[in-house]
Amino acid sequence: MTADVSITGVEHRFNSFIALHRIDLDIKAGEFIVLLGPSGCGKTTLLSIIGGFFTPTKGRVGIGGKDMTHVGPRERPTTTMFQDYALFPHMSLLDNVAFGLRTRGFGKSARREKAKEMLEMVGLADKGNRRPHELSGGQRQRVALARALAVDPDVLLLDEPLGALDLKLRRQMQDELKEIQRRVGTTFVHVTHDQEEAMAIADRIVVMNQGRIEHCGTPEEVYLSPRTPFAADFMGEMNRIDIKAGEGAANSALGPIAVVGGSGTLCLRPENIGLEGDFSLGRARLAQASFLGAHQRCHFRPLGAPDLELVAHLPQRIALRPGDEVELFGSHPVIFPKEAA
Ligand code: ATP
Repeated sequence: MTADVSITGVEHRFNSFIALHRIDLDIKAGEFIVLLGPSGCGKTTLLSIIGGFFTPTKGRVGIGGKDMTHVGPRERPTTTMFQDYALFPHMSLLDNVAFGLRTRGFGKSARREKAKEMLEMVGLADKGNRRPHELSGGQRQRVALARALAVDPDVLLLDEPLGALDLKLRRQMQDELKEIQRRVGTTFVHVTHDQEEAMAIADRIVVMNQGRIEHCGTPEEVYLSPRTPFAADFMGEMNRIDIKAGEGAANSALGPIAVVGGSGTLCLRPENIGLEGDFSLGRARLAQASFLGAHQRCHFRPLGAPDLELVAHLPQRIALRPGDEVELFGSHPVIFPKEAA
């Protein structure tokens, strides 16, 4: 099953501290939403409000068209999966997955059937009789997911579920999580502070900062066209160039740049600076390059502004040596007006 979630004017205070400032967020049924932001920005507080663990100080939470603001977690069509999995160590995997079904009127054989089906879905069909300690971290994580989905929630809330896994396993589990979500169609709301993870799994990313939403959009929108300087920096490295509005082109320390927009900051991701592109950034000298496998990371000093540094990711096939001079070009500019930057 699946349901939409509608958060309207939600504010949350811990005594006098405002952890969430008037949050508005509409999540569609079946969407995979990721709440992304640095530690302390309010992600877990928002998730807890959706799950019914906190009642917001102000505002409304609707799930599946019903007002759930004052409804407790057990009465909501939501399940929360915490980072520590909380599996019962003395129970088999099948019993762990079947556990939540006891209180929901499933008979013994129906519970076993459902638990088997769920373990099969997460690729652990042959391990039902094992105990949690006999599994790897990734397998335990899958059991926790099977248990959370066994009770058929409309909305699954996941708080840093991959946080304890090493990087390689984490990337692999991201793909699996996305695939399982697509198959079951349940609405997923997933918390992380890892921007790569957010881009890999989300239909939409909600970038949060100090209790506010900075940008909510698809991974492409948030990465390529961030609404705020904070969202721009949080999603990855940015080169920043101060610009002043001019006639036909903006003026900068690098010389005129043919971009449209007023005075402010021109932001370019390293992969959007290269030897070809939509507009010239003038000539620059290569100061240093490092091999990064998929590309080379090049530090350029513009001839017009040698104190500035531009970082570009260039394909490996381009052979440049420190000291070489090239004309640099930019694409996909993001321009923040003076006040926002
Ligand atoms: P993290 O990634 O570190 O878990 P987060 O984005 O999930 O961070 P929250 O746990 O939602 O952040 O916390 C938001 C803010 O509210 C933080 O400044 C935190 O210190 C504060 N806070 C959270 N819970 C409480 C509480 N029970 N009492 C007082 N302040 C709290």
